[in-house]
Amino acid sequence: MEYDDMLDRGLEETPDIEGNSDRFSLPEPEVRQEGHATVFENFQGACRDLDRDEDHLLKFLQDELGTSAHIDESGRGRFTGEFSERRIRNALETYAERFVLCSECELPDTSIVEEQGAELLQCAACGARSPTSG
Ligand SMILES: [Zn+2]
Repeated sequence: MEYDDMLDRGLEETPDIEGNSDRFSLPEPEVRQEGHATVFENFQGACRDLDRDEDHLLKFLQDELGTSAHIDESGRGRFTGEFSERRIRNALETYAERFVLCSECELPDTSIVEEQGAELLQCAACGARSPTSG
């Protein structure tokens, strides 16, 4: 029965049988402290990678970090207070899970649509539609 065991394990370790070459990778935030503010250097790049609106991501990060923020003249995200890179990264991860990755197929081929005032995540890959607030 050892062969069967190996087979089972092999299947578990390769759930990605469709072989998506386009796997999602979270943008790495470049974060540094400036006085009592936290600057997200590559904020615009992160928005591009996530294919999301700058204001949308900024608003989410403000809520998530419980602070105020704005986009400065160089296009960087500027947050009031001191936040570690890890904290920002975790917030980005949460954002990606809720607003970028399809809850059905987990591909990032999604867009945000509004229906009757509710925000939905529409997946172009599998056609699933799910509420972003879920
Ligand atoms: Zn999908």
